[in-house]
Amino acid sequence: MDLATLSALHKVFQDIQRKQDWRAALDTLFVSMRGSFVFDNATIYLDESGGQGLDVVYARATGRGKAAEADAAWGEELANEVIAKEKMILREPGRGTRHPTDRINRAHLLGFPLFIDSKLRGALVFVRFGGPEYSGLHVHIASLQAFWAAALIERRDLREARAELDSVQRQMRLQDDFVSTISHELRTPLGFIKGYSTSLLRQDTIWDESTQREFLNIIDEEADRLSALIENMLDSARLQSNTAEFKFSPVRLDALARDVATRICTYHPGLKVEFDTDSLPSIPGDSTRLSQVFENLFSNAIKYAPDSKITVAMRLAADKIRVTFADDGDGIPENYLPFLFERFYRVPGERTVTGTGLGLYICQQIIMAHHGNIWVESALGRGTMFVIELPIA
Ligand code: ADP
Repeated sequence: MDLATLSALHKVFQDIQRKQDWRAALDTLFVSMRGSFVFDNATIYLDESGGQGLDVVYARATGRGKAAEADAAWGEELANEVIAKEKMILREPGRGTRHPTDRINRAHLLGFPLFIDSKLRGALVFVRFGGPEYSGLHVHIASLQAFWAAALIERRDLREARAELDSVQRQMRLQDDFVSTISHELRTPLGFIKGYSTSLLRQDTIWDESTQREFLNIIDEEADRLSALIENMLDSARLQSNTAEFKFSPVRLDALARDVATRICTYHPGLKVEFDTDSLPSIPGDSTRLSQVFENLFSNAIKYAPDSKITVAMRLAADKIRVTFADDGDGIPENYLPFLFERFYRVPGERTVTGTGLGLYICQQIIMAHHGNIWVESALGRGTMFVIELPIA
Protein backbone atom coordinates (compact mmCIF):
# COMPACT_ATOMS: atom_id res chain seq x y z
CA MET A 1 0.00 0.00 0.00
CA ASP A 2 1.46 3.38 -0.93
CA LEU A 3 1.68 6.43 1.29
CA ALA A 4 -1.06 8.36 -0.53
CA THR A 5 -3.62 5.54 -0.08
CA LEU A 6 -2.62 5.14 3.54
CA SER A 7 -3.01 8.81 4.36
CA ALA A 8 -6.35 8.95 2.47
CA LEU A 9 -7.58 6.04 4.61
CA HIS A 10 -6.27 7.72 7.72
CA LYS A 11 -8.28 10.85 6.89
CA VAL A 12 -11.45 8.77 6.32
CA PHE A 13 -10.88 7.05 9.64
CA GLN A 14 -10.56 10.36 11.44
CA ASP A 15 -13.64 11.87 9.80
CA ILE A 16 -15.78 8.89 10.72
CA GLN A 17 -14.43 8.72 14.24
CA ARG A 18 -15.35 12.36 14.84
CA LYS A 19 -19.03 11.88 13.96
CA GLN A 20 -21.10 11.43 17.09
CA ASP A 21 -24.21 10.27 15.27
CA TRP A 22 -23.94 6.78 13.77
CA ARG A 23 -25.98 7.66 10.67
CA ALA A 24 -23.78 10.66 9.96
CA ALA A 25 -20.74 8.40 10.46
CA LEU A 26 -22.13 5.89 7.93
CA ASP A 27 -22.84 8.74 5.48
CA THR A 28 -19.22 9.84 5.82
CA LEU A 29 -17.99 6.27 5.37
CA PHE A 30 -19.89 5.68 2.14
CA VAL A 31 -19.25 9.14 0.69
CA SER A 32 -15.51 9.10 1.43
CA MET A 33 -15.05 5.72 -0.23
CA ARG A 34 -16.99 6.61 -3.37
CA GLY A 35 -13.82 7.38 -5.30
CA SER A 36 -12.87 3.71 -5.06
CA PHE A 37 -16.24 2.00 -4.96
CA VAL A 38 -19.33 3.15 -6.85
CA PHE A 39 -22.88 2.17 -5.91
CA ASP A 40 -26.38 3.58 -6.32
CA ASN A 41 -27.90 2.22 -3.14
CA ALA A 42 -26.47 1.06 0.16
CA THR A 43 -28.92 -0.43 2.63
CA ILE A 44 -28.41 -1.91 6.06
CA TYR A 45 -30.92 -4.52 7.20
CA LEU A 46 -30.88 -5.56 10.83
CA ASP A 47 -32.90 -7.93 12.88
CA GLU A 48 -33.64 -5.44 15.68
CA SER A 49 -36.57 -7.23 17.25
CA GLY A 50 -34.98 -10.64 17.74
CA GLY A 51 -36.23 -13.00 15.03
CA GLN A 52 -39.20 -10.99 13.73
CA GLY A 53 -37.71 -10.13 10.36
CA LEU A 54 -35.42 -7.49 8.96
CA ASP A 55 -35.72 -3.75 9.52
CA VAL A 56 -34.10 -1.22 7.24
CA VAL A 57 -32.08 0.84 9.72
CA TYR A 58 -30.10 2.83 7.18
CA ALA A 59 -30.47 3.49 3.47
CA ARG A 60 -28.47 5.74 1.26
CA ALA A 61 -28.92 6.44 -2.43
CA THR A 62 -26.29 8.24 -4.46
CA GLY A 63 -25.55 9.14 -8.06
CA ARG A 64 -27.77 7.98 -10.85
CA GLY A 65 -29.95 5.68 -8.83
CA LYS A 66 -31.17 8.47 -6.59
CA ALA A 67 -34.80 8.64 -7.73
CA ALA A 68 -36.99 5.65 -8.54
CA GLU A 69 -34.40 3.02 -7.83
CA ALA A 70 -33.62 4.40 -4.39
CA ASP A 71 -35.68 1.76 -2.74
CA ALA A 72 -34.59 -0.59 -0.04
CA ALA A 73 -36.77 -3.37 -1.48
CA TRP A 74 -34.07 -3.98 -4.08
CA GLY A 75 -31.73 -5.61 -1.67
CA GLU A 76 -34.06 -7.33 0.74
CA GLU A 77 -34.11 -10.71 -0.97
CA LEU A 78 -30.31 -10.75 -1.19
CA ALA A 79 -30.03 -9.64 2.44
CA ASN A 80 -32.08 -12.66 3.52
CA GLU A 81 -29.92 -14.94 1.42
CA VAL A 82 -26.69 -13.44 2.80
CA ILE A 83 -27.96 -14.01 6.34
CA ALA A 84 -29.11 -17.56 5.61
CA LYS A 85 -25.75 -18.49 4.05
CA GLU A 86 -23.72 -16.33 6.47
CA LYS A 87 -21.44 -15.18 3.67
CA MET A 88 -20.80 -12.51 1.10
CA ILE A 89 -22.83 -12.83 -2.12
CA LEU A 90 -22.14 -11.07 -5.40
CA ARG A 91 -24.95 -11.23 -7.94
CA GLU A 92 -24.17 -9.75 -11.32
CA PRO A 93 -26.92 -9.21 -13.94
CA GLY A 94 -27.30 -12.05 -16.42
CA ARG A 95 -26.30 -11.77 -20.03
CA GLY A 96 -28.94 -10.79 -22.57
CA THR A 97 -30.17 -7.86 -20.51
CA ARG A 98 -27.53 -5.48 -21.71
CA HIS A 99 -29.81 -3.08 -23.47
CA PRO A 100 -28.70 0.44 -22.43
CA THR A 101 -32.24 1.62 -21.56
CA ASP A 102 -32.76 -1.39 -19.37
CA ARG A 103 -30.61 -0.19 -16.47
CA ILE A 104 -33.02 -1.25 -13.78
CA ASN A 105 -32.86 -4.83 -14.95
CA ARG A 106 -29.09 -4.72 -14.86
CA ALA A 107 -28.67 -4.46 -11.13
CA HIS A 108 -25.34 -5.53 -9.64
CA LEU A 109 -25.98 -6.66 -6.08
CA LEU A 110 -23.29 -7.14 -3.48
CA GLY A 111 -24.27 -8.24 0.02
CA PHE A 112 -22.26 -8.77 3.20
CA PRO A 113 -23.28 -10.32 6.50
CA LEU A 114 -22.96 -7.95 9.48
CA PHE A 115 -21.50 -9.47 12.60
CA ILE A 116 -22.17 -7.29 15.61
CA ASP A 117 -20.83 -8.27 19.00
CA SER A 118 -19.76 -11.57 17.29
CA LYS A 119 -23.36 -12.36 16.35
CA LEU A 120 -24.87 -12.33 12.88
CA ARG A 121 -27.33 -9.46 13.12
CA GLY A 122 -28.06 -8.41 9.55
CA ALA A 123 -26.68 -7.53 6.15
CA LEU A 124 -25.34 -4.62 4.15
CA VAL A 125 -26.37 -4.64 0.49
CA PHE A 126 -24.93 -2.43 -2.24
CA VAL A 127 -26.81 -2.07 -5.50
CA ARG A 128 -25.49 -0.55 -8.69
CA PHE A 129 -27.61 -0.20 -11.79
CA GLY A 130 -25.63 -0.76 -14.97
CA GLY A 131 -21.89 -0.37 -15.41
CA PRO A 132 -19.11 -2.97 -15.51
CA GLU A 133 -18.93 -5.99 -13.24
CA TYR A 134 -17.47 -5.49 -9.78
CA SER A 135 -13.80 -6.52 -9.63
CA GLY A 136 -12.01 -8.34 -6.84
CA LEU A 137 -10.62 -5.04 -5.58
CA HIS A 138 -14.13 -3.56 -5.47
CA VAL A 139 -15.34 -6.47 -3.41
CA HIS A 140 -12.45 -5.96 -0.98
CA ILE A 141 -13.22 -2.27 -0.56
CA ALA A 142 -16.92 -2.98 -0.08
CA SER A 143 -16.10 -5.67 2.46
CA LEU A 144 -13.98 -3.17 4.39
CA GLN A 145 -16.97 -0.82 4.46
CA ALA A 146 -19.17 -3.63 5.76
CA PHE A 147 -16.74 -4.28 8.63
CA TRP A 148 -16.73 -0.62 9.40
CA ALA A 149 -20.51 -0.32 9.25
CA ALA A 150 -20.84 -3.24 11.69
CA ALA A 151 -18.40 -1.52 14.06
CA LEU A 152 -20.40 1.71 13.87
CA ILE A 153 -23.63 -0.12 14.66
CA GLU A 154 -21.93 -1.86 17.55
CA ARG A 155 -20.84 1.56 18.81
CA ARG A 156 -24.45 2.78 18.48
CA ASP A 157 -25.70 -0.22 20.51
CA LEU A 158 -23.07 0.34 23.19
CA ARG A 159 -23.97 4.00 23.48
CA GLU A 160 -27.66 3.21 23.76
CA ALA A 161 -26.96 0.60 26.40
CA ARG A 162 -24.79 3.04 28.34
CA ALA A 163 -27.48 5.75 28.22
CA GLU A 164 -30.04 3.25 29.49
CA LEU A 165 -27.70 2.17 32.25
CA ASP A 166 -27.09 5.78 33.27
CA SER A 167 -30.79 6.40 33.46
CA VAL A 168 -31.41 3.26 35.52
CA GLN A 169 -28.57 4.19 37.87
CA ARG A 170 -29.95 7.71 38.28
CA GLN A 171 -33.39 6.26 38.94
CA MET A 172 -31.92 3.97 41.62
CA ARG A 173 -30.13 6.87 43.25
CA LEU A 174 -33.38 8.83 43.22
CA GLN A 175 -35.20 5.91 44.85
CA ASP A 176 -32.57 5.80 47.59
CA ASP A 177 -32.87 9.53 48.17
CA PHE A 178 -36.62 9.12 48.10
CA VAL A 179 -36.62 6.59 50.92
CA SER A 180 -34.72 9.00 53.15
CA THR A 181 -36.85 11.97 52.06
CA ILE A 182 -40.08 10.11 52.55
CA SER A 183 -39.18 8.78 55.97
CA HIS A 184 -38.32 12.32 57.02
CA GLU A 185 -41.52 13.67 55.47
CA LEU A 186 -43.63 11.06 57.22
CA ARG A 187 -41.85 11.38 60.54
CA THR A 188 -42.19 15.15 60.85
CA PRO A 189 -46.00 15.38 60.84
CA LEU A 190 -46.29 12.13 62.79
CA GLY A 191 -43.94 13.59 65.41
CA PHE A 192 -46.15 16.65 65.78
CA ILE A 193 -49.35 14.60 65.99
CA LYS A 194 -47.88 12.25 68.55
CA GLY A 195 -46.32 15.09 70.61
CA TYR A 196 -49.40 17.29 70.80
CA SER A 197 -51.87 14.48 71.43
CA THR A 198 -49.67 13.05 74.20
CA SER A 199 -49.56 16.52 75.77
CA LEU A 200 -53.33 16.86 75.62
CA LEU A 201 -53.79 13.44 77.22
CA ARG A 202 -51.51 14.14 80.18
CA GLN A 203 -53.39 13.65 83.46
CA ASP A 204 -51.13 15.98 85.39
CA THR A 205 -51.70 19.08 83.29
CA ILE A 206 -54.82 21.07 82.66
CA TRP A 207 -54.75 23.00 79.38
CA ASP A 208 -56.95 26.05 78.97
CA GLU A 209 -59.42 25.98 76.12
CA SER A 210 -57.47 28.19 73.69
CA THR A 211 -54.30 26.07 74.13
CA GLN A 212 -56.31 22.91 73.55
CA ARG A 213 -57.72 24.42 70.34
CA GLU A 214 -54.25 25.46 69.21
CA PHE A 215 -52.89 21.92 69.76
CA LEU A 216 -55.88 20.32 68.03
CA ASN A 217 -55.42 22.69 65.07
CA ILE A 218 -51.80 21.64 64.72
CA ILE A 219 -52.79 17.97 64.88
CA ASP A 220 -55.46 18.60 62.26
CA GLU A 221 -53.08 20.40 59.89
CA GLU A 222 -50.36 17.80 60.27
CA ALA A 223 -52.84 14.99 59.60
CA ASP A 224 -53.85 16.85 56.41
CA ARG A 225 -50.20 17.10 55.42
CA LEU A 226 -49.72 13.38 55.95
CA SER A 227 -52.72 12.44 53.89
CA ALA A 228 -51.71 14.84 51.09
CA LEU A 229 -48.29 13.22 51.05
CA ILE A 230 -49.71 9.72 50.88
CA GLU A 231 -52.19 10.82 48.21
CA ASN A 232 -49.30 12.23 46.15
CA MET A 233 -47.38 9.00 46.37
CA LEU A 234 -50.37 6.91 45.34
CA ASP A 235 -51.18 9.37 42.60
CA SER A 236 -47.73 9.25 41.10
CA ALA A 237 -47.82 5.44 41.19
CA ARG A 238 -51.22 5.42 39.43
CA LEU A 239 -50.05 7.89 36.81
CA GLN A 240 -46.90 5.91 36.20
CA SER A 241 -48.81 2.68 35.71
CA ASN A 242 -51.45 4.40 33.54
CA THR A 243 -54.27 3.42 35.86
CA ALA A 244 -55.27 6.98 36.78
CA GLU A 245 -58.72 7.90 35.51
CA PHE A 246 -59.36 11.11 33.61
CA LYS A 247 -62.83 12.59 33.13
CA PHE A 248 -62.82 14.95 30.18
CA SER A 249 -65.27 17.81 29.72
CA PRO A 250 -64.99 21.37 28.32
CA VAL A 251 -62.75 23.41 30.62
CA ARG A 252 -62.16 27.17 30.74
CA LEU A 253 -58.49 27.18 31.61
CA ASP A 254 -58.29 30.87 32.61
CA ALA A 255 -61.27 30.57 34.99
CA LEU A 256 -59.84 27.35 36.43
CA ALA A 257 -56.42 28.91 37.13
CA ARG A 258 -58.04 31.98 38.71
CA ASP A 259 -60.11 29.73 41.01
CA VAL A 260 -56.98 27.92 42.13
CA ALA A 261 -55.23 31.27 42.75
CA THR A 262 -58.15 32.52 44.84
CA ARG A 263 -58.10 29.37 46.95
CA ILE A 264 -54.32 29.54 47.44
CA CYS A 265 -54.51 33.24 48.39
CA THR A 266 -56.84 32.48 51.30
CA TYR A 267 -53.94 30.51 52.87
CA HIS A 268 -51.26 32.93 51.69
CA PRO A 269 -52.88 36.36 51.95
CA GLY A 270 -49.70 38.26 50.98
CA LEU A 271 -49.24 36.37 47.69
CA LYS A 272 -49.00 38.59 44.59
CA VAL A 273 -50.51 36.94 41.54
CA GLU A 274 -50.98 38.67 38.20
CA PHE A 275 -53.07 37.25 35.37
CA ASP A 276 -52.69 38.23 31.73
CA THR A 277 -54.96 36.14 29.51
CA ASP A 278 -56.40 36.37 26.01
CA SER A 279 -60.02 35.52 25.56
CA LEU A 280 -59.79 31.76 25.21
CA PRO A 281 -61.99 28.93 23.99
CA SER A 282 -62.62 26.02 26.33
CA ILE A 283 -60.52 22.90 25.92
CA PRO A 284 -61.26 19.24 26.59
CA GLY A 285 -59.78 18.50 29.97
CA ASP A 286 -60.13 16.99 33.42
CA SER A 287 -60.73 20.04 35.59
CA THR A 288 -59.71 18.37 38.86
CA ARG A 289 -56.44 17.17 37.35
CA LEU A 290 -55.67 20.50 35.67
CA SER A 291 -56.37 22.30 38.97
CA GLN A 292 -53.85 19.94 40.55
CA VAL A 293 -51.22 21.14 38.04
CA PHE A 294 -51.77 24.78 38.97
CA GLU A 295 -51.87 23.95 42.69
CA ASN A 296 -48.46 22.28 42.34
CA LEU A 297 -46.99 25.21 40.42
CA PHE A 298 -48.32 27.72 42.96
CA SER A 299 -47.11 25.62 45.87
CA ASN A 300 -43.62 25.35 44.30
CA ALA A 301 -43.43 29.08 43.64
CA ILE A 302 -44.42 29.75 47.26
CA LYS A 303 -41.83 27.25 48.53
CA TYR A 304 -38.91 27.97 46.23
CA ALA A 305 -39.46 31.62 45.30
CA PRO A 306 -40.85 33.09 48.51
CA ASP A 307 -42.08 36.72 48.34
CA SER A 308 -41.87 36.64 44.56
CA LYS A 309 -44.66 37.87 42.32
CA ILE A 310 -46.28 35.14 40.19
CA THR A 311 -47.34 35.98 36.65
CA VAL A 312 -49.72 33.67 34.82
CA ALA A 313 -50.21 34.39 31.12
CA MET A 314 -52.36 32.48 28.64
CA ARG A 315 -52.26 32.94 24.89
CA LEU A 316 -54.03 31.35 22.00
CA ALA A 317 -51.39 30.02 19.60
CA ALA A 318 -52.84 28.32 16.50
CA ASP A 319 -54.52 25.15 17.77
CA LYS A 320 -53.10 25.35 21.29
CA ILE A 321 -53.35 27.34 24.47
CA ARG A 322 -49.95 28.31 25.76
CA VAL A 323 -49.70 29.00 29.49
CA THR A 324 -46.66 30.57 31.10
CA PHE A 325 -46.32 30.47 34.86
CA ALA A 326 -43.42 32.62 36.03
CA ASP A 327 -41.89 33.71 39.31
CA ASP A 328 -38.93 36.01 39.85
CA GLY A 329 -37.22 33.92 42.51
CA ASP A 330 -33.63 32.65 42.54
CA GLY A 331 -34.15 30.36 39.56
CA ILE A 332 -32.63 26.93 38.99
CA PRO A 333 -29.08 26.24 37.71
CA GLU A 334 -29.38 25.13 34.10
CA ASN A 335 -27.61 21.78 34.54
CA TYR A 336 -30.45 20.56 36.79
CA LEU A 337 -33.26 21.47 34.40
CA PRO A 338 -33.27 18.23 32.34
CA PHE A 339 -34.14 16.17 35.43
CA LEU A 340 -36.76 18.42 37.04
CA PHE A 341 -39.77 16.39 35.87
CA GLU A 342 -38.34 13.03 36.92
CA ARG A 343 -40.05 11.12 39.68
CA PHE A 344 -38.48 11.92 43.10
CA TYR A 345 -36.06 14.44 41.65
CA ARG A 346 -35.18 17.45 43.83
CA VAL A 347 -32.53 20.02 42.99
CA PRO A 348 -29.54 19.14 45.20
CA GLY A 349 -28.16 21.59 47.71
CA GLU A 350 -28.88 23.01 51.14
CA ARG A 351 -32.48 22.35 51.87
CA THR A 352 -34.83 24.15 54.16
CA VAL A 353 -37.96 23.39 52.19
CA THR A 354 -39.67 20.03 52.46
CA GLY A 355 -40.90 18.10 49.46
CA THR A 356 -40.77 14.70 47.79
CA GLY A 357 -39.86 15.47 44.20
CA LEU A 358 -43.21 14.16 43.00
CA GLY A 359 -45.04 17.41 42.21
CA LEU A 360 -43.59 18.19 38.80
CA TYR A 361 -43.63 14.54 37.77
CA ILE A 362 -47.37 14.48 38.52
CA CYS A 363 -47.85 17.75 36.57
CA GLN A 364 -46.09 16.33 33.55
CA GLN A 365 -48.09 13.10 33.59
CA ILE A 366 -51.35 15.05 33.78
CA ILE A 367 -50.38 17.37 30.92
CA MET A 368 -49.26 14.41 28.82
CA ALA A 369 -52.61 12.71 29.42
CA HIS A 370 -54.10 15.85 27.82
CA HIS A 371 -51.76 15.44 24.81
CA GLY A 372 -49.99 18.59 25.89
CA ASN A 373 -46.46 19.59 26.78
CA ILE A 374 -44.83 21.10 29.82
CA TRP A 375 -41.29 22.36 30.20
CA VAL A 376 -39.26 24.75 32.31
CA GLU A 377 -37.11 27.74 31.46
CA SER A 378 -34.86 29.03 34.20
CA ALA A 379 -31.38 30.20 35.08
CA LEU A 380 -29.75 31.12 38.34
CA GLY A 381 -30.84 34.63 39.35
CA ARG A 382 -33.40 34.91 36.57
CA GLY A 383 -36.54 33.40 38.04
CA THR A 384 -38.34 30.28 36.86
CA MET A 385 -40.94 29.94 34.15
CA PHE A 386 -43.02 26.84 33.48
CA VAL A 387 -44.58 26.65 30.04
CA ILE A 388 -47.60 24.48 29.30
CA GLU A 389 -49.15 23.88 25.91
CA LEU A 390 -52.57 22.25 25.67
CA PRO A 391 -54.36 21.41 22.43
CA ILE A 392 -57.77 23.01 21.88
CA ALA A 393 -59.33 20.00 20.17
P1 ADP B 1 -40.80 18.98 45.50
O1 ADP B 1 -41.28 20.39 45.54
O2 ADP B 1 -41.64 18.04 46.28
O3 ADP B 1 -39.34 18.87 45.82
P2 ADP B 1 -41.31 19.02 42.62
O4 ADP B 1 -41.33 17.88 41.67
O5 ADP B 1 -42.54 19.84 42.72
O6 ADP B 1 -40.90 18.40 44.02
O7 ADP B 1 -40.11 19.96 42.23
C1 ADP B 1 -38.83 19.42 41.94
C2 ADP B 1 -37.72 20.42 42.27
O8 ADP B 1 -37.78 21.51 41.36
C3 ADP B 1 -37.86 21.06 43.64
O9 ADP B 1 -37.25 20.24 44.61
C4 ADP B 1 -37.15 22.38 43.44
O10 ADP B 1 -35.78 22.21 43.67
C5 ADP B 1 -37.34 22.70 41.97
N1 ADP B 1 -38.37 23.74 41.73
C6 ADP B 1 -39.66 23.55 41.41
N2 ADP B 1 -40.32 24.70 41.24
C7 ADP B 1 -39.41 25.69 41.44
C8 ADP B 1 -39.46 27.13 41.40
N3 ADP B 1 -40.59 27.79 41.11
N4 ADP B 1 -38.30 27.79 41.65
C9 ADP B 1 -37.16 27.13 41.94
N5 ADP B 1 -37.05 25.80 42.00
C10 ADP B 1 -38.16 25.07 41.75
